[in-house]
Amino acid sequence: MKREGLLYVISAPSGAGKTTLCNAIIDLFSELGQSISFTTRPIRAGEVDGVDYYFVTQDVFKQMIAAEELVEWAQVHGNYYGTALKTLTDARSNGRDVLLDIDFQGALQLKKLDLNVVFIFIAPPSFAVLENRLRGRGTDSAEVISRRIENAAVEMAQARWYDYIIVNGELDQAIAELKAVISAQRCRGDMVFPWIEQQFNVE
Ligand code: ADP
Ligand code: 5GP
Repeated sequence: MKREGLLYVISAPSGAGKTTLCNAIIDLFSELGQSISFTTRPIRAGEVDGVDYYFVTQDVFKQMIAAEELVEWAQVHGNYYGTALKTLTDARSNGRDVLLDIDFQGALQLKKLDLNVVFIFIAPPSFAVLENRLRGRGTDSAEVISRRIENAAVEMAQARWYDYIIVNGELDQAIAELKAVISAQRCRGDMVFPWIEQQFNVE
């Protein structure tokens, strides 16, 4: 079935569980891939360049901005992050759906473009749980954690304009909800009708 690829933008305050949720569902759906962003953030223990992110210098990132290679970019928690236009055009032309784990500033930039995007916000159950998760993850310094918690209040306010909000309290429940959102998009009339046209020779 030939149809245009859908983009799923997933945003959340750092520590809410986006990465955990995306990893849990990415292999459950055929034709669903994850966009790999470019960032100037230092690589964390356990991360792999080209898998988790493309880790680049500020100079390289700024050259990409100047060359208009990024479809969206933002400064988040003091580092630059962005999505290459090529990542999206390649995926869409192959009819693949793509998950984009990006912040609300990047999400707003995509909202202004004429693309087929579903906006999903992952909320933590409380600020206290968010802080515990960031500390429990053990990947960031105390300073980085406090900056991320300060930014969380601003990020939570942005949830108001997203299409779906999933509260990641109990992990299995949140995974089930994210699966349900993606399954529902795949049954949308505009997603399935191209198949009907082809299969039933509808003019
Ligand atoms: P994000 O990508 O949003 O920054 P992560 O996926 O890295 O967040 O999750 C932050 C931490 O919280 C990780 O240690 C992860 O294992 C844990 N976590 C994620 N979701 C849950 C959940 N529903 N219940 C308990 N712990 C969770
Ligand atoms: P982290 O450093 O924890 O991997 O990510 C920090 C924040 O940057 C998260 O909110 C994440 O969604 C956001 N982010 C990651 N990649 C991109 C991107 O390509 N563009 C934008 N705008 N934000 C991104």
